[in-house]
Amino acid sequence: MTIGSTVLGYPRIGPRRELKRALESYWAGRSSASELREVARELRTGTWLELRDAGLTSVPGNTFSYYDQVLDTAVTFGAIPERYTELGLDSLDTYFALARGVESTPPLEMTKWFDTNYHYLVPEIGPDTEFRLADRTPIEQYREAAELGVTTRPVLVGPLTFLLLSKSADGAPERFRPLDRLDDLLAAYTELLGELHRRGVEWVQLDEPAFVADRSRQDLEHLRRVYRALGELTERPKLFVPTYFGDPGEALDVLAATPIEAVGVDLVVGTSVRDRLPTVRGLRDKTLVAGLIDGRNIWRADLDSVLSTAATLLGAAGAVAVSTSCSLLHVPYDVAAETNIDPRVEPWLAFARQKVSEVVVAGRALSEGRAGVRDDLTAARSPVADRRTSERLRDEGVRSRLEALRPRDFRRAEYASRREAQQRVLKLPSLPTTTIGSFPQTTDVRKARAALRDGTIDRTAYKQRMTDEIERVVRLQEEIGLDVLVHGEPERNDMVQYFSENMEGFVSTEQGWVQSYGSRCVRPPILFGDVSRPKPITTEWAKKAQGMTDRPVKGMLTGPVTILAWSFVRDDQPLGDTAKQVALAIRDEVSDLEAAGIGVIQVDEPALRELLPLRTEHHAEYLSWAVDAFRLATSGSSETTQIHTHLCYSEFGEIIDAIVSLDADVTSIEAARSRMEVLDDLNAVGFARGIGPGVYDIHSPRVPRAEEIEQLLGAALNSVPVERLWVNPDCGLKTRGYAEVEAALRNTVEATERIRRSL
Ligand code: GLN
Ligand code: ZN
Repeated sequence: MTIGSTVLGYPRIGPRRELKRALESYWAGRSSASELREVARELRTGTWLELRDAGLTSVPGNTFSYYDQVLDTAVTFGAIPERYTELGLDSLDTYFALARGVESTPPLEMTKWFDTNYHYLVPEIGPDTEFRLADRTPIEQYREAAELGVTTRPVLVGPLTFLLLSKSADGAPERFRPLDRLDDLLAAYTELLGELHRRGVEWVQLDEPAFVADRSRQDLEHLRRVYRALGELTERPKLFVPTYFGDPGEALDVLAATPIEAVGVDLVVGTSVRDRLPTVRGLRDKTLVAGLIDGRNIWRADLDSVLSTAATLLGAAGAVAVSTSCSLLHVPYDVAAETNIDPRVEPWLAFARQKVSEVVVAGRALSEGRAGVRDDLTAARSPVADRRTSERLRDEGVRSRLEALRPRDFRRAEYASRREAQQRVLKLPSLPTTTIGSFPQTTDVRKARAALRDGTIDRTAYKQRMTDEIERVVRLQEEIGLDVLVHGEPERNDMVQYFSENMEGFVSTEQGWVQSYGSRCVRPPILFGDVSRPKPITTEWAKKAQGMTDRPVKGMLTGPVTILAWSFVRDDQPLGDTAKQVALAIRDEVSDLEAAGIGVIQVDEPALRELLPLRTEHHAEYLSWAVDAFRLATSGSSETTQIHTHLCYSEFGEIIDAIVSLDADVTSIEAARSRMEVLDDLNAVGFARGIGPGVYDIHSPRVPRAEEIEQLLGAALNSVPVERLWVNPDCGLKTRGYAEVEAALRNTVEATERIRRSL
């Protein structure tokens, strides 16, 4: 059978986040491993049956994960560092130790999956890693689906992407690269493919998205060698190798020339790939799995245009199948679960379930002709046209404000004079201590928000509860001895959604959860039209907090790039234009905070790195609009106002110049896990502003000892003069518990005091 219509992957957290609840209950010791396994099994069953019944001709398998598919691949092939196997835990708990750490052993490093907001765990590969078929999950899940009568196509991270995303294990020789182990890993993949073949598996999908980023000659040569070798195996399933999130460039030609049966390309990201397809040699005897339905955004597809694109591809390949551009992991489950979306916007939307139908309809139209799906095509037409022409997309006031912008609207006073002016008002000690903004979100706080939503308490009662919480957080910070305080963000469900709910141009969902990492999900708002801010959003809380203490309280805003990165964004105008609109709204908020007496304002841009295009040739354009947006948001402030920003998720190398261009007075940045390396990178490009390299990793429940923090601060002082160094954790504290947070912050202050005494 050919592939026909398929999706590259599916959400797995559960339509009602069943997996999240089951995981967290297991981790907390409230339920057993077999209860967790049962929830997982039910979720898999539901997905397989749904996808088959929807009419996909090929259903992806092995897309379930207890935490992360890259970690799964490492575990499948036995790439588990010894420090975890030595813990002597059973396989499930070893897996969770890798993902979350245990008291004695921190977890694997975690980083972003390409340019998405999904995080994977970074495998550690060394010269002695023993690759073998160590875990049989892909095989078992094939059988499990088969028993339900569903034939699946096991999906795995491909061997090259796996090694390219891995890092060298500690202690590996300096010249060692994980890719050096390709042949050994390939042997293990070969073994798995053989096993799958013996079980009757017809197709296997090996994802190689790493090839949409710049790759060396040698990487491409490896690609050719790997898929030639796998293709030449006699005992194997058919191989389907997709890339996604971008144009695979030459990798497509390389793949097309190997003896695999199908290649997949993302045709949503741009026209560059599409136009080249007819010239790719070797495609004519393969199936081209055309990623025509956007797997990352939530707009209903224009099926007429999808089909006309598909028609142009027919001559390019032996067969053309329709699929999503990437796994549907990155969109929520089902629009039908929403009860509260503006009825004028809702018809414009398609989540995973709707996208599956779009794939099926397009696939049928392609293989059987349009007649059989005429009604579906007609029904799809009017919402698409309606969105294109809707008046709700435009706000002339916003548009004329944008047109009136001048270069001075993007510039602040000279740093030297800002610095002096700020020092005069703020009078901070050396090595000022602060946090990134949020404090733990207690059940109480969450309950109060829910109670306000469902009307159990009124606004006055809600405000009182939040005020009490803020007071508690302020007192705690004073008592611990922090220098620049925060209000703790108790009123925010999420740093992006909170702002979007208070701006025009957005709608939010109730059930639109998307996995971010492990059991963590986010509910990205939907930015559908021109953005503006009708009235102040945060000033009331900031003012309250400042009124409770003599120490400076930092106002806390989310930056324009991050708001875009963590929303589903309109696709009818350039992102840079949308960014400017959001920036103006934040600029208004900065002014109002200033007017309310807030002297330190942090504009978070944790996602600045995330939106960086995967290919270097597109970096400059992106960074230029991203930096402009930040500067537009912040440069309306006076010179005495200290502007902070916060960046996380390491690997700052490629945006290091942009960090300088942001021109923030103080930048707090993730650094603990990379042991402060980022400071030297910043020095190398002449960064000369305040810097707060995170002194401990907040992603793990582990409490750092004061000695560890002192050591890191010592290391930081080798790179940064004491006048510029700030002390703070790596990121916000909202996902942690109070016990750990208190202990960690006390140790942070103690370490700082020790260093201050030694100066
Ligand atoms: N101010 C935010 C917080 O502390 C920043 C979060 C982030 O960087 N992701 O929660
Ligand atoms: Zn952060």
